[in-house]
Amino acid sequence: MEHKYEEWQQQLVKCIRCGTCRSVCPVFQVADNENTTARGKVKLLEAVSEGKLTLTTELQARMSKCLLCKACAAGCPSGVKTDELFLSARRALAVENGLPLAKRLAFTGLTYRKLFDLGLKIGSLFQGIVFKDAPDGRGKVARIPLPGAGLGQRRIIPPLATKPLRSRLPEINKVASPKARVAFYTGCMLNYVYPDAGEAIVKILKAHDVEVIIPAKQSCCGTPAFTSGDYQVGRYLAEENVKLLAAGKYDSIITGCASCGAALKHEYGAIIEDPEVKQLWEELSKKIKDITEFVVSRGIKQDLREVRAKITYHDPCHLVRGMGVSKEPRQLLQAIPGVNYAEMKDAAKCCGAGGTFSMAHYDISRTINDWKLDNAEETGATILATGCSACRMHITDGLGQRGSHMKVVHTAEIIAKAYGLD
Ligand code: SF4
Ligand code: SF4
Repeated sequence: MEHKYEEWQQQLVKCIRCGTCRSVCPVFQVADNENTTARGKVKLLEAVSEGKLTLTTELQARMSKCLLCKACAAGCPSGVKTDELFLSARRALAVENGLPLAKRLAFTGLTYRKLFDLGLKIGSLFQGIVFKDAPDGRGKVARIPLPGAGLGQRRIIPPLATKPLRSRLPEINKVASPKARVAFYTGCMLNYVYPDAGEAIVKILKAHDVEVIIPAKQSCCGTPAFTSGDYQVGRYLAEENVKLLAAGKYDSIITGCASCGAALKHEYGAIIEDPEVKQLWEELSKKIKDITEFVVSRGIKQDLREVRAKITYHDPCHLVRGMGVSKEPRQLLQAIPGVNYAEMKDAAKCCGAGGTFSMAHYDISRTINDWKLDNAEETGATILATGCSACRMHITDGLGQRGSHMKVVHTAEIIAKAYGLD
């Protein structure tokens, strides 16, 4: 791993120990421990690169205490790419120490696309055995604690859809006079958990005279694997997706889940090794667009239907800092007649989900989520819109546990309503 340390060094030397990252780190705000800040992690990795510290399991546990929310990287005055550094460190630590068996099995399962699909379809039929309806009916809770899956009995999770998105819609969604031809990369969550949001995205695209292909052979984007350090699986999935999407020669690749979008657009750059696939990705990455970004670029429709609701918006980390999309969802929501848009405090602050972070550190992630919920509820909004399925799931969990009536929806579902497509 020597060469990696050289790469780390290029970033590590830039840190001037100013501590700006302390003020934005949600985990530090809960844990109050320097080791949880970007500065503390930089110091630890510096010690590794100088041979003063080894890649221990204790270090692995410390590096896992990070939401990968990119707030430290975005605010760092020296431009330390802490997000890339921490991903690279997790990879080195996973190579050295391995990953828990449950994670290894789950990630390997992602590489068997058909088996994974079948497993989730069967899971949707039998989920009632392991889960029961949450008291307020907005999701499910585990009947017995499932610590291996990061599920206690109070955590509310959405049910698996009985019919996934890619089984509901045809692969090719034609329009009469197409002005563009795009691929819709649904990823896993929109396919298996939130198919209504995925359907809304397809309807909106068709309303803009766009032919929508939903490639049946798309795989998971790989985010859960590579953010945990499993680059073998991450790379395989990234390379499969890039080859598939590049072969279609689409005008754009539309995403509706921030984590998938950020992976396809940016993070694949550090994962793909095959030079030919890397070249394909370099062209492809310019075509990756979040649905809100795409709609705004084509011009918001004029004759919108009224949607009477007070709405607030949560910026997913992977959308605002990962894909640079923040004004477009607001522009769309504010363009709808009847919408009383209320900006929440710290809208771009992480909701605490952090992918697998909330499975390993649920209590910390809940505290961070509670700040988000306080800010959202303070607006008086009845609907919270967002563009990331993981955020949606985590925020819904928090709202359910505190008995709030606020609803969480994908921004596209509100746009579809205003377009008269619901
Ligand atoms: S903000 Fe950047 S330069 Fe300052 S301590 Fe954090 S990582 Fe180092
Ligand atoms: S990525 Fe987020 S959680 Fe991780 S160190 Fe940076 S600010 Fe803290």
